[in-house]
Amino acid sequence: MAPSQNQGDLSAGSIKSHVGMPALDVSLAFPQATPASIFPPSASDYYQFDDLLSSEEQALRRKVREVMEKEIAPIMTAYWEKAEFPFHVIPKLASLKVAGGTIKGYGCPGLSLTGSAFAIAEVARVDASCSTFILVHSSLAMLTISLCGSEEQKQKYLPSLAELQTVACWGLTEPDYGSDASSLSTTATKVSGGWILDGQKRWIGNSTFADVLVIFARNTETNQINGFIVKKGAPGLRATKIENKIGLRIVQNGDILLKKVFIPEEDRLPGVNSFQDTKKVLAVSRVMVAWQPIGISMGVFDMCHRYLKERKQFGAPLAAFQLNQEKLVRMLGNIQAMVLVGWRLCKLYESGKMTPGHASLGKGWISLKARETVSLGRELLGGNGILADFLVAKAFCDLEPIFSYEGTYDINSLVTGREITGIASFKPAALGRRSRL
Ligand SMILES: Cc1cc2nc3c(=O)[nH]c(=O)nc-3n(C[C@H](O)[C@H](O)[C@H](O)COP(=O)(O)OP(=O)(O)OC[C@H]3O[C@@H](n4cnc5c(N)ncnc54)[C@H](O)[C@@H]3O)c2cc1C
Repeated sequence: MAPSQNQGDLSAGSIKSHVGMPALDVSLAFPQATPASIFPPSASDYYQFDDLLSSEEQALRRKVREVMEKEIAPIMTAYWEKAEFPFHVIPKLASLKVAGGTIKGYGCPGLSLTGSAFAIAEVARVDASCSTFILVHSSLAMLTISLCGSEEQKQKYLPSLAELQTVACWGLTEPDYGSDASSLSTTATKVSGGWILDGQKRWIGNSTFADVLVIFARNTETNQINGFIVKKGAPGLRATKIENKIGLRIVQNGDILLKKVFIPEEDRLPGVNSFQDTKKVLAVSRVMVAWQPIGISMGVFDMCHRYLKERKQFGAPLAAFQLNQEKLVRMLGNIQAMVLVGWRLCKLYESGKMTPGHASLGKGWISLKARETVSLGRELLGGNGILADFLVAKAFCDLEPIFSYEGTYDINSLVTGREITGIASFKPAALGRRSRL
């Protein structure tokens, strides 16, 4: 290298590359326990819930587990650390044949909700970001097209989305409207031959590279919410990555700017005519999201189960200490309860008996229990409990955004609270009183 190139270069990148030695590979630095790149065997099905599944559902579960452990586990820590999406694994995820979930026809797998749910838990067990990538694409965007799209739209978009040849995102929330999403302010104005969209969306998963963007906007004539299919590259559309996330770092969440984006009439979703129409999608999607914390907790339990037997302190494996056993058993008990609630939710849905309150209780309560479970796991691994290499720290962080999206724990509690009391308490009573004065 020419001396002039080396002198005076004090940029952060240059300092970083010249100070200290590269980190040792974790398996050399810490030979006593196996990192999560070699994924631990599944050990959490203590009550044999596999028996609740049909043979097809069991086979799907096994296939997803195998692909995730073999293909994703070895690379996930590096991508999580870089906060980059591993595009080369999309064909592997496509081979799982879970995109499109319960949708029948149009190249979609037509799975039972139970089969879909257990499959997504297996994905989340190894990597929560991959499960979010699939759910945004499948349970939000594809399901909206399937439930609210025209026959032509379903034929046009669903087959390639099911094969993951194209990727979708789903844009509802905005910088000013998160929990209060029904107040969204992005506008849709009717013009000759179509619509003009103007506004902003925030947090939209997959949006930085999605081919198909399902976007909700307020019709300036009716003041109701409508849905639109926006295509990548549409003039006036911009999506930028949200940086510095502490969880689901592999997922590319974006800020979307829509500046006079023209949408042809054929790309308006005819089945979205009010905010109520998004709720049928969200009900199914919330069940699926409830299975992410279940899967995350399973992975954390499996990791702790192996780690405690491998790692020794005071001359004995960590698994030999009573305090550690109690924590491990509490985690296991939580998982059994979470699976039962999640499974019952699927069955209520499949028999047509599930209400929005059921789905919200499931998502909220399961994510609460998962927080306790994952936090116990973090403790059990000691210092390695803060290293992504041993899964638990990564899972601990990944659970946080899941606790807050698809309705925060609070909002889901209020949905169920409204259903069981008949009283909506989303708006503060004081505000309600003031508005009456
Ligand atoms: C990683 C990630 C991915 C996401 N992906 C998508 C996506 O793909 N598409 C999409 O449309 N959106 C997405 N979201 C947005 C997500 O749905 C919102 O973040 C969520 O609804 C919460 O909104 P908020 O962040 O604005 O929080 P806020 O609404 O500002 O809430 C802040 C706090 O106030 C509480 N709160 C709010 N209102 C009430 C009330 N009435 N009563 C009691 N407590 C209340 C909340 O529970 C929370 O604790 C994503 C978010 C994250 C973090």
